[in-house]
Amino acid sequence: MKAKIVIRKVENKFYVADIPGLKPTCHSLGNSIKKVLEDIYKQLAGTTFELNQSEPVTLNKEDNLLEIYIEPGQRYPVTELRTFEEYALQILEMLPGARAERTPDVIQINLGDFRDEKGIVVILTSEAIELRLPTLEWLGSHTSVRSSKLWKRIDLDNSKSFDIPQLIASAQEAQSKTFGVCKFCSQKKPSGWMSQQDVCQSCAEKHLGIVY
Ligand SMILES: [Zn+2]
Repeated sequence: MKAKIVIRKVENKFYVADIPGLKPTCHSLGNSIKKVLEDIYKQLAGTTFELNQSEPVTLNKEDNLLEIYIEPGQRYPVTELRTFEEYALQILEMLPGARAERTPDVIQINLGDFRDEKGIVVILTSEAIELRLPTLEWLGSHTSVRSSKLWKRIDLDNSKSFDIPQLIASAQEAQSKTFGVCKFCSQKKPSGWMSQQDVCQSCAEKHLGIVY
């Protein structure tokens, strides 16, 4: 079953992890998310536990959320993390507040949304890392949907290592550059709220008579 781990950085040094709804409770402290995760797997391997998945999860703004798979009633083996899983943990450490969702083959990390200049979506599989920029996509003049756009896809070749911090920083810079500054109200706004390159939607209605 899927469990949610809340990871919190304390004293700007350590990571503490907690699985809401798990009985007996399971806590871990370590100097990297990887250490904390391995410790949690070890604890679970030695315990018969129950998980109440409807238990609410409370998150602070800077907390990371990470989904993992655990099986009650089984001695959970401490397995080696796969390369893309290690990258995912590295990315979470770099992005406080990011949330990682999990399916068996895919990890999707989200930080913020289209309104955030630092917003980013990272999709990791064993073959590739996809860096995406959060957007607001208009399906009609009144219907919009929060989406993301491909910025860069990197094939994971085990013989190569990647400068993940550099890639994340470049993607965030690209996201920031999609924002426009309105010549009427001087506000910096996401592209999804701009009518044209230098006029935001509300000013376009006010000053240019454009009706949305
Ligand atoms: Zn404006």
